Amino acid sequence: MSAAHDVSNENDMFDRMPIISPVLSANENSAQSTPKPIDIRHEDEPELSTSSDKQSEIIYNDSEKRRLLPDELPVVECIARARIPTTQGPEIFLHLYSNNVDNKEHLAIVFGEDIRSKSLFRRRPNETQSDRMTRGAYVGKLYPGRTVADKDERSGKEITCDANGELIYPKEEIEQEIKDPTLVRIHSECYTGETAWSARCDCGEQFDEAGRLMGKFGKGCIVYLRQEGRGIGLGEKLKAYNLQDLGADTVQANLLLRHPADKRSFSLATAILIDLNLVNVRLLTNNPDKIIAVEGKNRLVKVIERIPMVPLAWQHKDSGIQSTEVDGYLRTKIERMGHLLQKPINI
Ligand SMILES: [Zn+2]
Repeated sequence: MSAAHDVSNENDMFDRMPIISPVLSANENSAQSTPKPIDIRHEDEPELSTSSDKQSEIIYNDSEKRRLLPDELPVVECIARARIPTTQGPEIFLHLYSNNVDNKEHLAIVFGEDIRSKSLFRRRPNETQSDRMTRGAYVGKLYPGRTVADKDERSGKEITCDANGELIYPKEEIEQEIKDPTLVRIHSECYTGETAWSARCDCGEQFDEAGRLMGKFGKGCIVYLRQEGRGIGLGEKLKAYNLQDLGADTVQANLLLRHPADKRSFSLATAILIDLNLVNVRLLTNNPDKIIAVEGKNRLVKVIERIPMVPLAWQHKDSGIQSTEVDGYLRTKIERMGHLLQKPINI
């Protein structure tokens, strides 16, 4: 085997490689003659090691990880909701959110008409029933000629609000939510995997599978966060792909570009789940850190159960994504990021 194809040598090469080319870096302030490893610490965190410095690597336990989460959640507001019939069968209710930390349009893809957003249904000064129907704050279904948002004559469904205009959740719905926690998936946008048929990752497959399960159970919520490429954006993700083609794994590629291995934040998802009154959930994930992140510092959302997302290619021969790239991607998730996937990958 030639040195160029010796995987261990390639990995050594990336371990030795200084983090950053100023030319490649997204951070203009990083242009400097002596590159330093990226520092992604919060102010009170201990120093982190690089992958080539295993001796001093800091392993956080769950309570430490929780302690490092932000004290306050973002403020989110559902500004519109609409029913979407889907090509897959089940109807969904798409909720579009604004927030006070970025200007992106984060979404909640809701299966089930009776999962209701507090901020959407909150009464607004001087608004009419027609206004409420237009922004999606209605019960049941819309039909030509309907005039009242708060009550659906056909289904008999009705909402009530308190004196401040806040939606009141019926007691039996709250009890039901505790007894039968809702299926939830927190999904970060992946243009390449969801739209450009990429076999470098399994995001598209996981998204489809989450939707299939929620459609089957008739209830669920996919919180869809606009944080492409583990939060580094599509342009930087494409550069990371080129570094992967040069031999880096997904973690190394991000570090070489001076980005954290994972720059995502899930506090927006926590705030959206609370807005939808989904505070006891069954979370579809293989990522133990996501459970802690979604629960948040004060555990205002509780993950009652974790449902594993097993790649389809592992479940049935000839199904799912078959590519060496996705094998490497999954292997890095298991070996470098602590994901809870059982099957060993032999590549
Ligand atoms: Zn992806």
